[in-house]
Amino acid sequence: MKYIYGPVKSRRLGLSLGVTLTPYKICSFNCVYCQLGKTEAQTRERKEYVQVEEIISELRLWLQNNEQETEKLDYITFSGSGEPTLNIKIGELIAEIKKITSIPLAVITNASLLNDPLVRKELLGADLIVPSLNAITLPIFQSINRPQNSIDIKDIINGLMNLRREFLGKIWLEIMLVKGLNDGLGHIRKIKEFVDKINPDKIQLNSPVRSTTESDVFSVDKKRLEKFREILGDRCEVI
Ligand code: SF4
Repeated sequence: MKYIYGPVKSRRLGLSLGVTLTPYKICSFNCVYCQLGKTEAQTRERKEYVQVEEIISELRLWLQNNEQETEKLDYITFSGSGEPTLNIKIGELIAEIKKITSIPLAVITNASLLNDPLVRKELLGADLIVPSLNAITLPIFQSINRPQNSIDIKDIINGLMNLRREFLGKIWLEIMLVKGLNDGLGHIRKIKEFVDKINPDKIQLNSPVRSTTESDVFSVDKKRLEKFREILGDRCEVI
């Protein structure tokens, strides 16, 4: 299979079958904590990087051949080896998947394109969106996510607030914290102000635990994460 992987048991989503909508590491970010390594093709250009028909035929085959595992799946998840919203046919893909299975569909996204009304519209058919927001100020955003140079953190925040207004499914906001980069107490308090405006169903605090290709990326210790969880409120969990 080229586009379907797993199922993968994850802390965030339970048992999920992954779908990748781009070739390897096509992304609008080049995050310091990315487990896939350096982004070779950094772009915000939307294209049909992978054809919807190819993904659907693989998925149909997987579901037919794995009836027992299918029953245990919590989600089919768009994630994989790049940013899924870069695939311009994501809305069509969601609609096609909904025709062949009732398994809930989740989209993990770096949120970089959510300021585009068309992208938000294409995501309306999903059941769960898991966007990330790791910074509030441009310098911190640039140091942790290293975005394609036309992407501004203000657009991301604006996109997330609009998504909340338009999307009827669940939004679980992920905040990835890297020691020394975005884990200052003042920065967490600023994030809290914006999180209140975005009003996600859940906030998931995370810190890199597995090795990344960058040697100077360190995780935030559990005690500190717990302190931030308290600041971020009842809907926040450390994963
Ligand atoms: S957004 Fe995801 S895939 Fe892209 S660089 Fe960051 S962690 Fe890697």
